[in-house]
Amino acid sequence: MSGSAGVPFLDLAAVHLDLRDDLDVAWKEVLGHGRFIGGPEVAAFEAEFAAHCEVGHGIGVGNGTDALELIMAGLGIGQGDEVIVPTNTFVATVEAVRAVGARPRFVDVRPDTLLVDPAAVAAAITPRTAAIMAVHLFGQMADVDALGRLARSHGVALVEDAAQAHGARYMGRRPGGWGAAAAFSFYPGKNLGALGDGGAVVSDDAQLIERIRLLADHGRSATDRYAHEVSGRNSRLDTLQAAALRVKLKRLDRMNEERVALVERYRRNLPSWAVPVAEDPAAEPVYHLAVVQVPDRLTVTAALDAAGIGWGLHYPVPCHRQPAFAEFADGPLPVAEAAAERILSLPLSPTMAPEQVDLVCEVLHGVPIE
Ligand SMILES: *Cc1c(COP(=O)(O)O)cnc(C)c1O
Repeated sequence: MSGSAGVPFLDLAAVHLDLRDDLDVAWKEVLGHGRFIGGPEVAAFEAEFAAHCEVGHGIGVGNGTDALELIMAGLGIGQGDEVIVPTNTFVATVEAVRAVGARPRFVDVRPDTLLVDPAAVAAAITPRTAAIMAVHLFGQMADVDALGRLARSHGVALVEDAAQAHGARYMGRRPGGWGAAAAFSFYPGKNLGALGDGGAVVSDDAQLIERIRLLADHGRSATDRYAHEVSGRNSRLDTLQAAALRVKLKRLDRMNEERVALVERYRRNLPSWAVPVAEDPAAEPVYHLAVVQVPDRLTVTAALDAAGIGWGLHYPVPCHRQPAFAEFADGPLPVAEAAAERILSLPLSPTMAPEQVDLVCEVLHGVPIE
């Protein structure tokens, strides 16, 4: 443990300590063959990651934001279309919608899970709706059962933003097969993180994945590398990142189990005024983040700061209140707006010691809130 006082919000160096030997082997292999773009590790990782998601197909891309944008583009979503997005998400979900020229329609979240509220989605569907974005925030999947039924009955696409939910399940099934496709990010801090940027799209729709493969590699024909069928772009997963991700994918389930155990420990030991986000009984979360709702957050964070305990806010400004997207706000979204004042992410790393959870809880118990 690095230093007895304080607890880092996320300790990525510790996460990689155990993996060093395997990573060294993996990266030397890539140096040996020199195929830094499109090397054999990329296809191997795509197949292994799709298998982990229990869906038919996967493609590695540059990052999670690109994964979302490429799904939008691959589905032919663009100008004149609307995409329903929960306002409580990282801005990337919305950027992907804007990048293809579509209009985000912000909806509110459920007060217990802080995930997209299917009733709000139903109320926001219009003749222009092209897709519903299910965002699986904090490691817990949104109600994809209800959202999938809504999408099918209205003939619109369901797209999953699974950037925080590698390995999570809903009704026993992982992201990717509930709708058109799921987007993943391998940003280093995510449950499955690369040693830099990376992302993936997984889907049971082979044609959609092929279309995305074309778009992500300059519109290049699968059969003739000098033929460019459409004006695409460049968004590929580097071979080195794929090699590292193959090593880390093997440990993902175990690391997720560690996260779940740590969050259970938080639940047992937190003061009653720090209320963890609820678990949907149909969900099996993998806890990307340990989020609680607290009163008087400034007092709480001051106490954490004084004790050298890291913390974060995911997210303090709902997307419809961000200057970047204010023009698309249709009115107040009271649940997300109220939660934004109360949410607090506590330290969580798969390598965190149980005693570190206890220390955070002890500091919280000392905060003068009744
Ligand atoms: C991290 C994240 C993204 C974006 O992923 P990048 O790889 O950073 O582009 C998208 N959506 C959510 C919910 C995220 O947490």
